[in-house]
Amino acid sequence: MIFKTRFAPSPTGPLHLGHAYSALLAHDMARAAGGVFHLRIDDLDQSRSRPAWETQIFDDLAWLGLAWPSPVWRQSERLPRYRSVLTRLWARGLLYPCHCSRADIRAAASAPQEGAPLQGPDGLIYPGTCRPDTPPEGPLPDLPLRLDMGRALATLPAPPCFTETGAGPDEETGLIHLENMEKTVGDVALARPGMGASYHLAIVCDDADQGITHVIRGQDLFSATQIHVLLQRLLDLPTPLYHHHRLIRDTAGRRLAKRDDARAIATYRAEGKRPEDIRTMVGL
Ligand code: GLU
Repeated sequence: MIFKTRFAPSPTGPLHLGHAYSALLAHDMARAAGGVFHLRIDDLDQSRSRPAWETQIFDDLAWLGLAWPSPVWRQSERLPRYRSVLTRLWARGLLYPCHCSRADIRAAASAPQEGAPLQGPDGLIYPGTCRPDTPPEGPLPDLPLRLDMGRALATLPAPPCFTETGAGPDEETGLIHLENMEKTVGDVALARPGMGASYHLAIVCDDADQGITHVIRGQDLFSATQIHVLLQRLLDLPTPLYHHHRLIRDTAGRRLAKRDDARAIATYRAEGKRPEDIRTMVGL
């Protein structure tokens, strides 16, 4: 099996030290294994993606010394694929339309009889307001859609699991069994307003279609991985090995965000830093 990994940034802002660490680590691991490192552009959210950020991503990664095969996949060019997967899930009665806004969900989830609202990988766990008793019929609607988690789990012979190869002291490793996802994850959104698909659905299709064998990404995505593994099971797609790496933090211990322009690779480049300096800064 050839080792294939990827770095999949969203072109919604500058790459910072955390992205540099993730990309360098994935690239180094692929090289050590004689494998392939892909760059993918996660531009599903067209309202926030900008061509200028994409250009900057290419430029920063090449400056860091990374190389990747062409063509580079863009999610915005793969919408028909995501739609066909949604159609399959819809036909199996696993999806339903949901019109709830974030505020609706907050209000319903904090209703006194519901107890303390529970957080899932995507924020508050959906309280099930729009979930129908029987699966909706007809053609796939062009509406925001959620996965009926209970129904989806019931179609599987056993709860899903995946292998985590993260090696740090505070990382879970080994075979991770996913239990109780109806409670801890709930009905996740798989098609979002104005975006066709959700990040979870798109990334699962992209990883499978590109033959990714190793997903190397930050620990902040650890809880999202269970959604991806579940979707792989539902869609009969292979599950890659997962390596969730430590996060690069600022001096106050907060994880870096796109708004942290001070730690943008472009800022360090403008200050005269070299790619080796960036490697040292992230501990590589
Ligand atoms: N575009 C996603 C992000 O930047 C990619 C996450 C992933 O690697 O799966 O968070």
